[in-house]
Amino acid sequence: FDRMRQAVARTRTTLNDRMGAVLALTRAVDESSLEDLEAILLASDIGSTTTAEILENLRQRGMRQGIEGGAELKRLLRIELKQVLDRVAVPVRHPASPPEVIMMVGVNGTGKTTTTGKLAAHYRAQGRTVLLCAADTFRAAAIEQLEVWAQRSDVPLIKTRQGGDPSAALYDACAAAKARGSQVLIVDTAGRLHTKTDLMKELDKMRRTAEKLIPGAPHQTLLVMDATTGQNGLTQARLFTEAARVTGIVLTKLDGTAKGGIVLAIATELKLPVVFAGVGEKMEDLLPFDSEAFVDSLLD
Ligand code: GDP
Repeated sequence: FDRMRQAVARTRTTLNDRMGAVLALTRAVDESSLEDLEAILLASDIGSTTTAEILENLRQRGMRQGIEGGAELKRLLRIELKQVLDRVAVPVRHPASPPEVIMMVGVNGTGKTTTTGKLAAHYRAQGRTVLLCAADTFRAAAIEQLEVWAQRSDVPLIKTRQGGDPSAALYDACAAAKARGSQVLIVDTAGRLHTKTDLMKELDKMRRTAEKLIPGAPHQTLLVMDATTGQNGLTQARLFTEAARVTGIVLTKLDGTAKGGIVLAIATELKLPVVFAGVGEKMEDLLPFDSEAFVDSLLD
């Protein structure tokens, strides 16, 4: 909770500054205060759909039984935000038999390779055996960068050369994971392909390759998104959700932004849960995402 609180400090401060007057209300909340709140939520990257829905619920509540001042409004807002996130929360289903294959997708620069490395360390710390696959054959430094992460967390790595076929690397990695009895195989993929069709083809080919060797693979496809890009990041993310069967989001750089409200827009617009949050550049700066801790940290 403390680390989440720290990570959303900038978002919380911004939100609290803006909401100061509304939350200080001591009389019943009226339409003009709700309009103020609406403007604040819209300015907080929560997104127009989510904001409209929350406001509708608050208005109805106001009409039914009134809202007694700012503290009550804050309590109701917390419930609303929580509900938006809970709607898309799905328990992760692990495969009956290992290896569990996790594919990392996303645009270059979002922190995909760093997150892949952190995730390997996360599972290692849980005592699981991990194998990494460097299949981002597009970005020049991605493979060496992942090698450094693999060494740091003492995890074996299967790689190919830059410009090589990502599916070939993945094939080797799946075979190696089976042979070694690895419990988790994490695959870093290339983020920059020219068109949606290219991206779809590439990711489809990788999926078929994994499936051929390991039934049900990939079991998770995590889209890495950069929280600092706000609503623009959503547009890019949509491209990936159309091209791959994304099962969850890793939201990076939450530590460096006041745009943490994007977590709610992701839930509403992409209908996907944030499953991990990146909160720094170091190995331990990856938090399993907890919607309760997040909402409480925002509205603290
Ligand atoms: P990729 O191109 O998507 O593989 O991106 P990289 O993994 O190379 O990351 C790009 C930059 O973002 C690097 O400088 C990382 O250290 C940094 N980065 C990644 N995740 C986070 C995070 O959660 N917080 C912060 N502050 N920086 C991050």
